[in-house]
Amino acid sequence: MSKEPVTIQAIINNEKVTTEEKISRENPANPKEIAGYAPVNTREDAVRAIDAASDAFSSWSKIPMEERIERMNRAIKKLKDATPELAKLLSREHGKPLYDSEGEMGVSLMWMEHAASTAKDVLKDDVQEREDGKTIIRNTPIGVVSAISPWNYPISLSTIKIAPALLAGNTIVIKPSPFAPLTVSKVVEIIAEEFPKGVVNLVHGEADVGVELTSNPKVAKIAFTGGTETAKKIMKSAADTIKNMTLELGGNDAAIVLSDFDVNDEQAMRRLVIANFLTTGQICMIAKRIYVHRSIYDKFVEKYIEAANKWIRVGDPFNKDVTVGPVNNADQVKYVQGLITDAKSRGSKVIPLGEIIDSDAFGTGYFMQPSLVLDAGYNDPIVEEEQFGPTVPILPFDDDEHAVSLANDSIYGLTSSVWGEEDHAIQVASRIEAGTTMINTAAVQGLDVRFPFGGVKQSGIGREYGDEGLLSYVEAHVINVPKDPDLPYIPE
Ligand code: NAD
Repeated sequence: MSKEPVTIQAIINNEKVTTEEKISRENPANPKEIAGYAPVNTREDAVRAIDAASDAFSSWSKIPMEERIERMNRAIKKLKDATPELAKLLSREHGKPLYDSEGEMGVSLMWMEHAASTAKDVLKDDVQEREDGKTIIRNTPIGVVSAISPWNYPISLSTIKIAPALLAGNTIVIKPSPFAPLTVSKVVEIIAEEFPKGVVNLVHGEADVGVELTSNPKVAKIAFTGGTETAKKIMKSAADTIKNMTLELGGNDAAIVLSDFDVNDEQAMRRLVIANFLTTGQICMIAKRIYVHRSIYDKFVEKYIEAANKWIRVGDPFNKDVTVGPVNNADQVKYVQGLITDAKSRGSKVIPLGEIIDSDAFGTGYFMQPSLVLDAGYNDPIVEEEQFGPTVPILPFDDDEHAVSLANDSIYGLTSSVWGEEDHAIQVASRIEAGTTMINTAAVQGLDVRFPFGGVKQSGIGREYGDEGLLSYVEAHVINVPKDPDLPYIPE
């Protein structure tokens, strides 16, 4: 792939829009190299994009489902063909190793295909003919959707919204994160080409554009993935016009390792390490704190270090032997380093993990030595806060009750995992407050686009993926024809 920077544009009413001011996106593995430039759109651009989406809604929402699916399938086909190039660009702007970028493209396409193949059935009218009357429940599109996505999985967390929104008959304005705006723009461009004017729009920028997208009266629904603090601002911004919302937010996912977990199971140990360090730990649903039964704690730590040292190979994302790339940006490095320094100052032991196989890249990019934190307090920041980086604490617990209470002692409830004998693990899993709990696997390894995904507590509202992921883009419109329309208790 050429190392020439790419320049991407906004898309408003299917026209490319450039701005004089641009964000330059550096390659996190080598910040001196610019991966590309993205426009800095204004609030006025956002208004124009919303107007275009609003104008397109009345005709697009009437287009038959068959045509929506056909258009989506054409976009999917083009994205499949473009995947090798898109994955390379994603690695350059994001820092995730190439296998991980290809994996993200794969999961995105898997969901788009699943949504396209199930939309007709999931969103069809429910017609009920009964003795006491007839009811038709219609799944009607909501209107203009503002889709705001984060930097860590920019493609999948944008397409997770675009596919169901369009299949359900809505129009959309997408705003990616300035920390990974390039590949997702190419993806949106490919999709937009397959849809009528104004149905798919794209704007770039910072919070001001986000504020317009979440407060404009013409926007009917917000689909947001990002931090919990940003979501609080968005809820306030949307309050005046009471918008429908799906919020996918932060997580601090617990992995509970039960007394009957086999510490000699190398494959399971590898899965656990991947559940902590895939995408350099920058995943909402990564296992961010491990609780291990005290009876196996010492042996577990020893075997975990062995497994981590085997799997973690840090270096340039384009080096085929690399499993862990740089952190996405300098602010994130600073934040994660801060948590590690704080943990040390409280008496924790920080153990370096893995091998740095690319010391040149390591010296220049936003790299961090992956690490394990031992002897932390249960309420230390390294345990209570979402690290979103390549470090993880391991802490002991005394019994199942203790493990469940530690896991639930969090403002978050996104995913979680329980490791051990299956029935025992399921029993413990059912007591955890989370949107998903995986058994003997965790994070992306246990993700299945056929089932609803989302968080409880401050990890979010609503669900993406599965039937719910489509149904969250429609409102039920009930047409009721009762046989006896008179209420018996109302006097003549
Ligand atoms: P972020 O909240 O900083 O930014 C997310 C998006 O919101 C970006 O596009 C940003 O430009 C935009 N934004 C910022 N301020 C805004 C405002 N006032 N109004 C509207 N939009 C605004 O999050 P991030 O740093 O990009 O992503 C990391 C966070 O996302 C982590 O907390 C992670 O756990 C979370 N996340 C959650 C999920 C999930 O499915 N639950 C998935 C991935 C990431």
